[in-house]
Amino acid sequence: MRSVVVASLGLVTLAGFLAPPVHAAPVRPAPEAKRPVAEGYGGAVATVDLDASKAALSVLRQGGNAMDAAVAGAAALGVTEPYSAGLAGGGFIVYYDARKRKVTTIDGRETAPRAMTSTAFEGIPFDEAVTSGLSVGVPGSVAQWDTALRRYGTMPMRQALRPAIEIAEKGFVVDQTFHDQTEQNAARFADFTSTASLYLPGGEPPPVGSVFRNPDLARTYRELGIRGPDWLYGGALGREIVATVKKPPVRRGATRNVRTGLMEVSDLRAYRALERPPTKVAYKGLDVYGMAPPSSGGSTVGEALKILEALPKVGLHEYLEASRLAFADRNAYVGDPAYVNVPLEQLLSDGFAKERACLIGPRAMAHPAAPGSPDGSYAPCPAAAQGTPGASAGAVPEEKKEGPETTHLVVTDRWGDVAAYNITIEQTGGSGIVVPGRGILLNNELTDFTFGPAPGDPNLPAPGKRPRSSMAPTIVLKDGTPLLAVGSPGGATIITTVLQILVNRLDFGMSLPEAVAAPRASQRNTAATQAEPAFADRYGAELTALGHTLTDVPGPPAGEIGAATGLEFLENGRVQAVAEPARRGGGSALVVSPRR
Ligand code: GLU
Repeated sequence: MRSVVVASLGLVTLAGFLAPPVHAAPVRPAPEAKRPVAEGYGGAVATVDLDASKAALSVLRQGGNAMDAAVAGAAALGVTEPYSAGLAGGGFIVYYDARKRKVTTIDGRETAPRAMTSTAFEGIPFDEAVTSGLSVGVPGSVAQWDTALRRYGTMPMRQALRPAIEIAEKGFVVDQTFHDQTEQNAARFADFTSTASLYLPGGEPPPVGSVFRNPDLARTYRELGIRGPDWLYGGALGREIVATVKKPPVRRGATRNVRTGLMEVSDLRAYRALERPPTKVAYKGLDVYGMAPPSSGGSTVGEALKILEALPKVGLHEYLEASRLAFADRNAYVGDPAYVNVPLEQLLSDGFAKERACLIGPRAMAHPAAPGSPDGSYAPCPAAAQGTPGASAGAVPEEKKEGPETTHLVVTDRWGDVAAYNITIEQTGGSGIVVPGRGILLNNELTDFTFGPAPGDPNLPAPGKRPRSSMAPTIVLKDGTPLLAVGSPGGATIITTVLQILVNRLDFGMSLPEAVAAPRASQRNTAATQAEPAFADRYGAELTALGHTLTDVPGPPAGEIGAATGLEFLENGRVQAVAEPARRGGGSALVVSPRR
């Protein structure tokens, strides 16, 4: 149902938004065309990849539910998008259980090994930390799949892994994105014997149009299905992962400084996926559910929405300013709640949002915005406060580079269950290290910790701690029933992409496909706002006149923010699944049946 109101766009015109986005340019026809939008009944799925969408759809067609299909889709993405997803990574699922009419989340975030200290990354150049054993977190995906299937699914893991095994065995056709991502990683992949032999056959990235097989991964999935998660969490596969982390298979003659990791089999044994309550905020009569800490996704999207709701109008200027303030608070207060006291309830409260909204005036506020005080005691708006940066803002920690790594999928089934699922191995290509003979890339998720020195930072490493994430799988309910689900990759830009899509859809009157395709900008309490070229072309002059500074989005791929997927429930049970028309090569939306 589209019962939302078109709000004022301020200086930025609605007509501008609804012009065809540059990203909607037709994509090259594939052998079997990927479609970014599909509508129908009986279940739907959207991922970045046709094979993965088909894998999830096949599970729905076999009678599986949305959780079964989400796991099947994620496992398939581990084959076809191995630089973004895999069983040696982690992720977050936000799930609407139609029978219980309840939203829950499953946290499969990686953890730091017990031997990790708060200074473990201090002084290490970021790029060196990425390609290392040190950055490999205890993998969470397999425990997450197991918990998700046991609590909410209907299938054993071995059945949910079947479509992925088939793709790994038979192979998939290499597209431009896979080729380019391999090429971007070629120098470091070449430095590990296991990675080079899998992803650089003959010393080169596999050519576009060739068929890529991963028989080792097929065997790994098959054996996992037979032996169960303990094979990883303490068993033989776990021992192989630990051995690889402690002694990465560096090519003889390589000059790269590859630091070794701290993971032990006992760390794997201690790992648990956690079911957590979601974050929840009311926005314009809807309920927006997101991922709670250790992700900052739900809290930051939620806080920004509450700030927007406290403003007299919502336009692009307000979107950027609300995001700036919410990021100041995210950086100051959000970390793993088992280690830091995250004031989540206050961050999402009306009182705090109103106090923060006072700082937003007609012009961009001075940089940087200081964090607020989510302490439960909130002052009314002082008349002179608008547009000021708040109290002494202090230094803002430099942000790490955000790329289009990670992936997001959405699934719904015939019963109305909905899964929004972010899965990741952190950087595109993770740590760059393949476990020999297993066909899986290890994650580098621990580089999501603050490297420091940063006394008091909520996201410093600690034994067993989960690094703060930005992943923001989101489900919106209207009157207790799902209306929308959305999510994206892109590091910290995930938060702004999800927020912008929600604002596009709920405030600016766009359809979901328009909201996903529209040009993006990302403001994360940095001096300049990153903007896609089409965004800068259209809105740059108006926003610059308000004191905003726009800057290019660094690549690769340059000029692109995110790669979203989403779905919306239209009238009379009709579902619309939505993927990107062009970003990251375009995504794939499928429905079980186009007709009722
Ligand atoms: N590691 C990132 C996070 O959890 C996700 C990967 C990415 O998209 O950068 O926020």
